[in-house]
Amino acid sequence: MANFKVKITEVTPLVTNVFRIRTEKPAGYNFSPGQATEVSLQYEGWEKEKRPFTFTCLPKDNFLEFTIKTYEDHQGVTKRISTIAPGDEFEIGDAWGTINYKGEGVFIAGGAGVTPFLSILRDLHQKGALGYNQLICSNKFEDEIICYDELKSMLGDRFINTITKQNEPELHIGRIDKEYLQAHIKDFNQQFYVCGPQGFTKTILGILKESGANAEGLVFEQ
Ligand SMILES: Cc1cc2nc3c(=O)[nH]c(=O)nc-3n(C[C@H](O)[C@H](O)[C@H](O)COP(=O)(O)OP(=O)(O)OC[C@H]3O[C@@H](n4cnc5c(N)ncnc54)[C@H](O)[C@@H]3O)c2cc1C
Repeated sequence: MANFKVKITEVTPLVTNVFRIRTEKPAGYNFSPGQATEVSLQYEGWEKEKRPFTFTCLPKDNFLEFTIKTYEDHQGVTKRISTIAPGDEFEIGDAWGTINYKGEGVFIAGGAGVTPFLSILRDLHQKGALGYNQLICSNKFEDEIICYDELKSMLGDRFINTITKQNEPELHIGRIDKEYLQAHIKDFNQQFYVCGPQGFTKTILGILKESGANAEGLVFEQ
């Protein structure tokens, strides 16, 4: 497996605790939308701490982009990322991952689990091939929704949100359960893409199967 040192060129805060980080792109580096890579920080003592992050740029861009949620309470890599600056470096490996576009369907994301879908949907958008793809996102608070305006302008009413912890949000409040999915999805005989924390993914996959989704039509990070 190859490793590449890439210089950070841009750090942009997006929403609470989430940063868009762009880096140089090594010559000939390839990935497909939805894939991730192992990233390590190049500060002393951090070089061996590799964490997976997903590319949110397009394969044809001349930079790499990550959209990273940082956790102040983990005392880990993402906490350190919250103080990163242009000129610092990441080391990245080859691209890997099981999430890739297999055709029109429903994308279901919990929190930062939207990142592989950002790359896939941006890719489809620039190819004029968004079709009837739907994106359902669950976040604790409205101000945590990553790239809300961009996703809304790409998907319109096919971008559906639910909020689980905020009092009186403007958007729908409540967890994604069987009733919620059955209200928003007309046909369970289509492609589904699920990404989020482990418990979220397990619950959603269970509901989809119970509702008649075909196991072969489910794409999720294993
Ligand atoms: C394929 C894949 C792609 C991913 N892509 C992205 C992406 O594009 N963007 C993104 O934001 N995330 C992404 N993630 C998630 C990301 O990898 C994790 O958020 C990251 O690894 C967390 O690293 P960390 O060092 O900050 O914390 P961790 O490695 O989770 O933990 C560091 C320390 O904190 C402790 N800790 C862990 N959880 C808690 C807790 N709840 N409270 C207190 N302490 C805790 C641990 O015991 C450990 O000592 C992806 C994950 C996978 C598997």
